[in-house]
Amino acid sequence: MDRRSIFRRLANRSAELDRSSVFLIDAPHAIASFTFDDFPASAVEQGLRILDNYGAKATYYVSGEHVDQTLGSVKYCESAQLRHLLSSGHEIGCHGYLHTSHCGLSARDVSDNCAHNEQFLQSRLGIDFRTTSFGYPFGDASYFSKRVVGRRFDICRGVQLGVNAREVDFSMLRVLPLEQYRLDEYSLEDSIAEALENNGWIVFLTHDVSTNPSPYGCTPEQLERALSLVTNAKIPIKTISEAAKIMRPRSMV
Ligand SMILES: [Zn+2]
Repeated sequence: MDRRSIFRRLANRSAELDRSSVFLIDAPHAIASFTFDDFPASAVEQGLRILDNYGAKATYYVSGEHVDQTLGSVKYCESAQLRHLLSSGHEIGCHGYLHTSHCGLSARDVSDNCAHNEQFLQSRLGIDFRTTSFGYPFGDASYFSKRVVGRRFDICRGVQLGVNAREVDFSMLRVLPLEQYRLDEYSLEDSIAEALENNGWIVFLTHDVSTNPSPYGCTPEQLERALSLVTNAKIPIKTISEAAKIMRPRSMV
């Protein structure tokens, strides 16, 4: 393991050890959320069509530096798509203006990166627009960055595997990745059963939606399957910020 990955692992571990945002939750029922990170245009072009079939609203985490850009073979979302998502009832969340790991960033840099993203989104979505949820780029956090975004946003999402139930870290939600390279880490059916049993919160994470997805994306069929299983289990689908209001913190752990 090289020094960079050791440093990254230590930073993430320090964030995990901070339990100031861990609460026992008092949820009336299970909930599911679908999230898309630094999403290519396909997440809107393909993803939205499938979400609409289920009447589902999702949370799209945006890094301003990617918007209206094509990098390599990846065409990222367009400003017009952001406006369409927002007007259709989907949530636009913050992913930092620069899509950069929080490991090694100062608290000031993390704060400035979020503020820059907010200014960018307001330039596209209107001066009154506000983000209330945050997704960590690469899932990376440090003790200090988690504190900064935990204060700035109502709810923050990481990339660690799991159903959010009983003790929930509101500054580092766990996920079920709809990502090619992580699909074998869990059973969707078992996770849904766990959420139903504990009134838990399932948060799906993906990026692109394509018949030939990247390692971090999913196929239309995989997104459809997750939506179908959740819907058949009668689990309501909410955006991250809407779900956070329902998953009330009962007390600190
Ligand atoms: Zn990302």
